[in-house]
Amino acid sequence: MRIHQLSPRLANQIAAGEVVERPSSVVKELLENSIDAGASQIDIEVEQAGVKLIRVRDNASGIHKDDLVLALCRHATSKVAKIDDLENVSSLGFRGEALASISSVSRMRLLSSQDDSGQGWVVSVEGRDMKAELRPVAHGKGSTVEIQDLFFNTPARRKFLRTEKTEFTHLEEAVKRLALSCFNIGFSLRHNGRSVLNLKPADSVLDKERRIAAICGVELVKNLLAVDIKIEGMHLYGWMGLPTFSRSQAISQYFYVNGRIIRDKVVSHAVRQAYHDVLYNGRHPVYILYLDMDPGGVDVNVHPTKHEVRFRESRQVHDFLYRSLHRVIADVRPGKAIGLEQVQRGTTSSLGAKTSTENIPAQAAFDLLRADQPVDSELIEKRSAPSGKNISAGSVYRHDMGGQHSLVADQVSSYSALISTKQASSVGGNSDVAAEQMPPLGFALAQLHGVYILAQNQDGLVIVDIHAAHERITYEGLKKSFYSDGVVSQPLLVPLSVSLSHGEVEVAEQCYAVFSSFGFKLEVMGPETLVVRQVPALLRDADIEGLVRDVISDLLAYGDSRRIHEYTDKLLASMACFGSVRANRQLSILEMNALLRDMEQTERIGQCNHGRPTWLVQSMTALDKLFLRGQ
Ligand code: ADP
Ligand code: MG
Repeated sequence: MRIHQLSPRLANQIAAGEVVERPSSVVKELLENSIDAGASQIDIEVEQAGVKLIRVRDNASGIHKDDLVLALCRHATSKVAKIDDLENVSSLGFRGEALASISSVSRMRLLSSQDDSGQGWVVSVEGRDMKAELRPVAHGKGSTVEIQDLFFNTPARRKFLRTEKTEFTHLEEAVKRLALSCFNIGFSLRHNGRSVLNLKPADSVLDKERRIAAICGVELVKNLLAVDIKIEGMHLYGWMGLPTFSRSQAISQYFYVNGRIIRDKVVSHAVRQAYHDVLYNGRHPVYILYLDMDPGGVDVNVHPTKHEVRFRESRQVHDFLYRSLHRVIADVRPGKAIGLEQVQRGTTSSLGAKTSTENIPAQAAFDLLRADQPVDSELIEKRSAPSGKNISAGSVYRHDMGGQHSLVADQVSSYSALISTKQASSVGGNSDVAAEQMPPLGFALAQLHGVYILAQNQDGLVIVDIHAAHERITYEGLKKSFYSDGVVSQPLLVPLSVSLSHGEVEVAEQCYAVFSSFGFKLEVMGPETLVVRQVPALLRDADIEGLVRDVISDLLAYGDSRRIHEYTDKLLASMACFGSVRANRQLSILEMNALLRDMEQTERIGQCNHGRPTWLVQSMTALDKLFLRGQ
């Protein structure tokens, strides 16, 4: 066969393969166009999950009559004009491909008007050669794009479509993603005549939270931490889930760079690492995060759907994300203000949604703030096991920390003084006394079945899982002393030689510090051989070769590796778990109060090393509701 030029339609259909995978991709492109054009309201109507009909209407600037036909042509755009524009692109679209691609695999009508006269123009394409026809039409300011019979002329694509339900789930998700990045725009979505989403423009924080609740569920909003960190030209803000609120799947993970949702391995790796050692094994965190940065530092023209980006300084971005999010998690402590007001108060009333205690049996309502907690079968075993084997009778909770957590004498007396004031006052019926002196986790009242501390704080009832809390305290203490004392390194009797690729050896050489700061001593023996001479004493029994290889792969892929760190932490964590107060130990009130005070000082105290929650609070309001008080 001789070479010939493809017809425009075929060329577009081929290009459409990349851009238009399924109905949701069409919706994504059309919404992006409306957003780029400055819409404040976008209404979406679909039938049969978008296969039969997709209609997107906006109230944006509209398109000039003379541009309507051009808009449907390939490589026709109003968003970039020269190569420099690409460096600083601020619109979501810029490739001028979407309308051309979509119209080549469907029957399309584009209606638009640039003023309020009620008069507009419509262009439709359907014919074989994609000849567009222009006619006057009644239309308010803005544009409507109507797509019918998607893939009617590309049966192969049609075959790949899933059930209506699945396709609609994708489509709805596409709308949600954009709705989470454009709070100032109202969105409505109707499917087969039924209203599915109706999101009002959201300006205030409360309205934004309300939108998140409508999109991701009320439970998620109750478990978010606010993030807002700015350094060196980068601004990271949004929300991240409490480590105790994790998911079995990587859903509800939204990350936007300069307003564009992206999926990126550098980003997801940094986020995963930030949750390292607080997230229950194999669980996924939730997050809705926005990174604003110099557009010159990120290349968005990597993929036709623009889902992927490339960072110029990926290592710096990784580092910034990791550090910022890690800090936010570490700072979750009792009494410290955390993100959303709702989280602290443990109610959703301000969200306008029903509070969790309404209309459900009392017991169910009692699962408090932290929903979605994984069940720890190991713990259940521990609980039923005989207790206290490795703990000396005296001070249960201080035994293994080398005095680090021992009580400071005057602290004790001031606390016990407070306790008595508190008790006296509550006997007298006035619980406001000493309110301002009340520590965040309050004072212990009793121990429940040897497992929990029951305490009273200003809000109400505090319940602490003794083992989980102590485990975190011990672990943070071990980490602190391990890292501050400097790592002890130990020479290998027989140096270990590792053969690697040329590139890997180079990376290892460049990132020598990653290894040496942990007490590794490496030497390059040849272009493809590395020799390990010394290892950190703590890791002497580890699979050193595997570890070194994994670290190098990380360095190649993400420009950074915290694998040795994580490995070390894992060992420290298991030491902490072993050395912590077992269930069924009788603690005195003083010991319990000491534990509460230590918890308040400990980073990441919200979860034990396995990611289980360590404490919960049930507010008086919530308790009153349970008992139908004052109703
Ligand atoms: P791109 O978005 O990459 O520029 P498209 O094929 O999606 O390419 O759209 C082509 C052009 O049509 C856009 O550049 C824009 O000028 C115009 N356009 C498309 N949709 C709209 C809309 N809803 N409102 C105003 N202009 C639009
Ligand atoms: Mg576009």
